[in-house]
Amino acid sequence: MSAKILNGKLLAQNLENALKKEVASLKKETGCVPHLVNVMVGDHHGACAYAKSQKKAAEHISIQYELEALQEDVTQEHFRQCIKRLNDDESVNGIMIHKPVPQHIEYHAVAKYVDTDKDLEGINVTNIGKMLLGETRIIPCTPASVMEHIKSTGIDLYGKEAVIVGHSVIVGKPLSLLLLEQFATVTVCHIATSEAGQLEAHVRRADIVVVAVGKPSVIKGDWIKKGAVVIDVGINQVNDKIVGDVEFEAACKNAAFITPVPGGVGPVTVTMLMRNGVEAFKAQMRKKGKL
Ligand code: NAD
Repeated sequence: MSAKILNGKLLAQNLENALKKEVASLKKETGCVPHLVNVMVGDHHGACAYAKSQKKAAEHISIQYELEALQEDVTQEHFRQCIKRLNDDESVNGIMIHKPVPQHIEYHAVAKYVDTDKDLEGINVTNIGKMLLGETRIIPCTPASVMEHIKSTGIDLYGKEAVIVGHSVIVGKPLSLLLLEQFATVTVCHIATSEAGQLEAHVRRADIVVVAVGKPSVIKGDWIKKGAVVIDVGINQVNDKIVGDVEFEAACKNAAFITPVPGGVGPVTVTMLMRNGVEAFKAQMRKKGKL
């Protein structure tokens, strides 16, 4: 079998086209468009690349997008004041804090300052709780991207064996809830699964494998079950190349569908950030009685 490659750029473009139409009709109804702010400290190279793709996506959808740049030596208090100002600004609908932040800033502490209604990344404790209860449309962006890729295959998750490798707060844990919501049988593996020598066995029986570890070739291609869907979230630099966590060529021989790295999960993650911005905007407009 030669896997079908899931083209993240194309999927992102299609989803963004739909968002563009939605934003245009929201503008007609409310007189305004979503206004999103990315709070970034210093001029981190990786962060800048990510911010550039956000700006491009926002322009395509006709969302207003701004960078709020803070000095590298910003204090935690100044950071808090900046977030408070954006929370209080009625014209701002969504806020995100760009990672990484400098070591003297406690990321999780500043992330908590962001108003629940303006939490673009869906990482606020209230939004995570609401996601557990199925009460919000603001979903963490990378897991949402994974779900869109799976949806694009047309495969029904009901009763399928889904194995997630990686249990981080931003990917593996929230993704397990989204897969459960679709009635997949979910197993979450992590470093201890590997150390116990159980990783291969779990991956071998998976209909859906999602890998978010950050180690090249941590998943061997011949572990992939025939006909499986493989979603590779990992981003690793090897020499001059960006690669994922799965042995791509070998996995293609068994998988029915696979995401490439780069060009798979990443582009759709940016789109999901924009979608969260549109959802936040709609919720705020409803509260104001404008929708
Ligand atoms: P993390 O470091 O927070 O978590 C890594 C996870 O991998 C942990 O659960 C850890 O226990 C597990 N792990 C480590 N070694 C392992 C092993 N040998 N076997 C099994 N499990 C192992 O990482 P993260 O923030 O979730 O990111 C993971 C990867 O995904 C990174 O490469 C990151 O760059 C990438 N990422 C991509 C996107 C995107 O949109 N494309 C978004 C977020 C993260």
